[in-house]
Amino acid sequence: MNYRMTGGRARRVAVVAMACMLSLLCAASATAATRVKVSAGKALAKGCHTKFVGDRAHTDVVRATSGVDGLVQARLKGRGDWDLGVFDAGTKRSVAGSAALRGNELAEGVVNKGQRLLVQACRFRGRASSARVSVNFLGVARESTDGPVQVVDVSTPTRADKRRLQGLGLDLTEHGDSDSVEVVLYGAEDAEELRRNKFTWQVRIADLERRNEANRRADRRYRARAAQTGSQLPSGRTSYRRLPDYELELKILAAQNPDLVRPITLPYKTHQGRDVVGIEIATDPYNLRDGKPIFLNMGVHHAREWPSSEHSIEWAYELLTNYGEVGRTTRLVRATRNIVIPIINPDGFNISREAPDFPPETEFGQFSYEMKRKNCWPNPGVATGTCENSSQGRLLGVDPNRNYGGFWGGGGASTNPLSDTFRGTGPFSEPETQNVRALHSERQITNLITNHTYSNLVLRPPGVADVGFPLEEPMLEDLGGLMASHNGYANIPSFGLYDTTGTTEDWTFWSAGGIGYTFEIGPEEFHPPYQTGVVAEFLGLPPAEGAGQGGNLEAYYEMLEATADRQYHSVLRGRAPEGWTLKIKKSFMTATSPVWRNNFGTDIGPPQLFPDSLESEYRSDGERFDWHINPSTRPVVAGRHGRTPVAPPQAEISLANPPGQPAENTQGNYQNGAYESIPFTVGGPPEVDNGKMTVHIEWGNPNTDWDLYIVGPNGEVVTQSASFGDTTEDAVLFDPPPGQYTAHVVNFDQVDGQPFDDWSNGRVTFASPTPTFYGPKESWQLSCEDEEGRVRATRSVFVDRGDRLNVGRVCGGASAAKAARESG
Ligand SMILES: [Zn+2]
Repeated sequence: MNYRMTGGRARRVAVVAMACMLSLLCAASATAATRVKVSAGKALAKGCHTKFVGDRAHTDVVRATSGVDGLVQARLKGRGDWDLGVFDAGTKRSVAGSAALRGNELAEGVVNKGQRLLVQACRFRGRASSARVSVNFLGVARESTDGPVQVVDVSTPTRADKRRLQGLGLDLTEHGDSDSVEVVLYGAEDAEELRRNKFTWQVRIADLERRNEANRRADRRYRARAAQTGSQLPSGRTSYRRLPDYELELKILAAQNPDLVRPITLPYKTHQGRDVVGIEIATDPYNLRDGKPIFLNMGVHHAREWPSSEHSIEWAYELLTNYGEVGRTTRLVRATRNIVIPIINPDGFNISREAPDFPPETEFGQFSYEMKRKNCWPNPGVATGTCENSSQGRLLGVDPNRNYGGFWGGGGASTNPLSDTFRGTGPFSEPETQNVRALHSERQITNLITNHTYSNLVLRPPGVADVGFPLEEPMLEDLGGLMASHNGYANIPSFGLYDTTGTTEDWTFWSAGGIGYTFEIGPEEFHPPYQTGVVAEFLGLPPAEGAGQGGNLEAYYEMLEATADRQYHSVLRGRAPEGWTLKIKKSFMTATSPVWRNNFGTDIGPPQLFPDSLESEYRSDGERFDWHINPSTRPVVAGRHGRTPVAPPQAEISLANPPGQPAENTQGNYQNGAYESIPFTVGGPPEVDNGKMTVHIEWGNPNTDWDLYIVGPNGEVVTQSASFGDTTEDAVLFDPPPGQYTAHVVNFDQVDGQPFDDWSNGRVTFASPTPTFYGPKESWQLSCEDEEGRVRATRSVFVDRGDRLNVGRVCGGASAAKAARESG
């Protein structure tokens, strides 16, 4: 379809960039960061960023003075596990910190020109008694604003309107309904963009920056109150964590629960060089080959969505606090493995989380950075500077939740690098998505929840309507409903709001086979006050929609119950000698969407194919095993859930062109101008069963343009077709409700100096619904290796979701293991 508008515009930002390395520390070299060796005689497993200790036994200190208003970046490289804390030399207030699991740290926080700093390096663990520290300073660009930042609700009665809105490159939220989508407007230019494109809207939040400041005051009041009454959260937390808080708490949890927790550093470092960290909770945490089903709970793909990581880490506390104390928790933790990665995108999160510390009088891009969504891809083609001091401000980066390889590149993701939903240069181009892919490629992640804010939604695949429902749709809808019964959210398919491609489950579900949901937490705001966005939503307290029903905590428990329940995945049962290793492997090509070359879908290239490989292991303890895995057939090829017709489709209806020549009408709301109306009637069961309705018109000259809007029995536009550059319009509606319809035909443009080019051959055609269909079956390649690593047997196994396949004595010998499928 061709829409009449110009493509993604670039935002302009006023630059006050002063890339600078000036400090006492690097005075000797003003152009390169100076490295300093730090050393400490002993290790101590305590926080480094929360308090300046000055204890030379396990810490060492580097002094530095900022030459700029902007950011300090302190890095540490070394063996073992070292952490960093940066403090104001006078007040000893914490300025920045980093507490990842190894000796690879980046502490980044807000500083003023002339501010003297103490950079504290702490030896947390390990035998390395020294490490290297470097300190840089970045002047930060100021983003020009032309009016307050607002949240507005834009009227989009049809899917075509939503798609048109997506094409504008504005900052769309995940919040909306059948009639509208909420959009963040960064000043008058964005509002003008909407106006130019004939959209109408209502203001929801008139000044988001002031709202956020009010939220922070509410957070301080809550924190003071909770200091008296205590926090109800499993961790006892009363305010939003900073990045080093997460990192430190994860490794303290691991240190305190060595029999239950394995710390995880994912394989790919971020663009800024950070480690992405998490923990795995299980009764035998380091035995990754125990064959148990796995629940992965993730947060913060999107930097500004602070409650999403709070929910993930509180879930970890919940399991660890109640294990051995509460029967349900103990039973479920024993039956499963739980991976918790609170922050997939630490680069983006850190700048968003630290941004409120920018002093207002310095007029940095404080609020802009706080509202950052994407990662820190440097965009060498367009931008200069780093993620934080770039002239592009918050708009630098890739949207990690549009970068997954499955269905990558289609609608609902932007081709424009400066859009908030920029999909990246290729499928899985980003370290954040590569990390999640690596996790799924080596482990059988059977269940996944990826947390976001906001909209009160439990979203399930598919993300794009054209893909169709997976065979698992009834099961996924039911389980989504169970979870929604606790958090009070709407339980809908991901495309229910608008199409998106390249999102997490587009690959983790359709290619790797684990069931997965996206939670959009809370009714409004990306990071509302802590008490409502975290405490109330997690525990199900007022004013959350799930008040009194258990909240997201109980929703997560439903997912953990489903993880332990083999009906939701597959099981291989059999026997193998003790110490032998079973492997399952599958290699295939994953296809992207047909790749859009612009944001409007008017120039679409072929899909790209890329190789994928999944390989996991089970280590036998000599007993009979139950190995919990994902189905052998990928959902993307397994088939689609549909509807069996109960009657034939309705016969074709002719639409007669009324006499006369309507005037040209280029109004955004066409009903403000001239149009022709042709009524028609759509039937339903038992006489007919229509799965798809297509309303068609055509004309002679490709430079003429007629548009088509179909008003349904509800009196609203239910589908439309408004393309140009061709000589037809086809408006499509799936499962049209029976009743009276009207086709509104609009004369958008007639070629000058030609005879009137009227439309003709109008007709409504109907097709049956598509019944459920099944694709080919795929297998896992199962192999058995003895203790010396020699392959002793291989075979193909086919196993569906919900099935337990008995593979017998799979390692060979006389076993001749006949695969006998057990019932249920
Ligand atoms: Zn999000």
